[in-house]
Amino acid sequence: MIRSEARRFYALRKARPVAGKSNGPVDRLVEREEHHPMNYVTQADRMLIGGELVHASNGAFDLSIDPATEEVIGRVPRATVEDVDRAVRAADAAWPEWFALTPLARSRAMRDFGKALRARSEEILKVEVADTGNTITPMRGDVGFSVDSLDYYAGLAHELKGQTIPSTHENLHITLREPYGVVVRIAPFNHPLMFAVARTAAALAAGNAIVVKPPETSPLSAMILSQIARDALPPGIFNVVTGDGRTVGNALVQHPLVKRIAFIGSPQTGRAIQRAAAEVGVKHVSLELGGKNPFIAFPDVDPERIAEAAVRGMNFAWQGQSCGSTSRLLVHADIYDAVLKRVVEKVRAIRLGDPQSPDIGMGPVNSRVQLEKVLSFFESARTDGARLMTGGKRPDGPMFERGFWVEPTVYADVEPGMRLWQEEVFGPILSVGKWRSFEEAVEKANSTEYGLTAAVWTNDVNDALWMVRKIRAGHTWINGSSAHFIGVPFGGMKSSGVEREEGIEEMLGYTETKTINIMLPKG
Ligand code: NAD
Repeated sequence: MIRSEARRFYALRKARPVAGKSNGPVDRLVEREEHHPMNYVTQADRMLIGGELVHASNGAFDLSIDPATEEVIGRVPRATVEDVDRAVRAADAAWPEWFALTPLARSRAMRDFGKALRARSEEILKVEVADTGNTITPMRGDVGFSVDSLDYYAGLAHELKGQTIPSTHENLHITLREPYGVVVRIAPFNHPLMFAVARTAAALAAGNAIVVKPPETSPLSAMILSQIARDALPPGIFNVVTGDGRTVGNALVQHPLVKRIAFIGSPQTGRAIQRAAAEVGVKHVSLELGGKNPFIAFPDVDPERIAEAAVRGMNFAWQGQSCGSTSRLLVHADIYDAVLKRVVEKVRAIRLGDPQSPDIGMGPVNSRVQLEKVLSFFESARTDGARLMTGGKRPDGPMFERGFWVEPTVYADVEPGMRLWQEEVFGPILSVGKWRSFEEAVEKANSTEYGLTAAVWTNDVNDALWMVRKIRAGHTWINGSSAHFIGVPFGGMKSSGVEREEGIEEMLGYTETKTINIMLPKG
């Protein structure tokens, strides 16, 4: 860390700490120095309902804190159930006109929305890094990916086609695709802005109006997004309501005017949403959930390449808080020691520090809840007998006394009976295990409840394809990991989710089919 950054970092620590990420209603923000980079965040504290930037109807706020320092960096409205109702009704009133636009006109509006986002990308980036703890360099891609997704789906709007079906020769049988109307998007904390934009673009293109519920521990970028969407889109087409999942999220899920819910988050919450939705109506819920993703290394690949890809695949740059983190590295016995040695060297070399600094490799985990969860895995790995290779504790030094810091960690000899093998950490812990036969590799890869992603590394295309086809995962790479490609469907099997996002099928998933049978007079 360069000296001026270090000074700023230590200065931040002097501010008043708070106990958790979200701290309940407040009437006043912490006073801060004029030059503080986060000052403006405190001014952007309104959500977007029906084209208006508003506070909660009862005036309540939640605080958000910087996980590197535990310092308050902003506040967001704590929406009430009445606010949720207003947002849904605004969306319901707005979508018919949006859908009535030509696909070209909708596409233009979406592209303009993207341009407006790009114009404020530096500001969004700083806020997002401060609010999530994710490091700045890779986070630069999030706004870009969001804008690209808006462009991609804008370009697909003419693909909202139906069919003609030759059921009879006398009549005409056709289908049309119609939007659900109101689409609710509930987002997790690891990429808040990206999920709020890139993962609503398909629904917008299909003619729906959106209500976004940002994560409670990293909601600040949604305040900037609210300003941009207000100016770029017609009133009511894009709404943002902030608050906790059990109140705001649940009120959205159970609202009678909401039939389509798109969720990204943990399997537990996904199932709770399915239950809550089913209690009140017939609803379409799509789920993008957690992963415990295997990375299978064959002995014909250079151990250095494996180690480099496996560490990259873990996404330590956002503290392993990635659904696609390759958190189970399964290495053939012949190269196990060679790969393990290199993996440990690379993980030890990751620099912890201020995530706003471009040369830092890992920041703090997102919240106290996340911190405690990661620490509990250190404990269970110890009692389960996994071999600690590096990390496994909070970092030493005054800089890390405050904030949600843990060391990047590697355990070796992890086995299917261990908690670390079975449960998603969503944190910076890489587990390494061993295989000898193809069958053993497949059995181990498939031995968890998850099925999100898998990576297979070998120079033999036949082995690679054999292995990939045996693994129950929705998104796989041969000699790759972690990367998403626009237009290529992403999503999980087993408890990792239902349906696919990021391709054309996501857009079609925000439509309902209407069949029209045209009964032609005979003749
Ligand atoms: P989470 O499930 O705790 O929360 C996600 C969102 O759901 C938050 O906005 C939260 O407020 C809301 N929520 C919570 N309870 C709710 C309820 N009862 N009704 C409605 N909404 C509710 O997840 P998280 O901790 O924010 O994120 C981590 C999880 O997300 C991990 O499991 C990770 O793998 C997963 N994830 C999956 C993908 C993917 O594409 N498959 C991408 C990123 C993250």
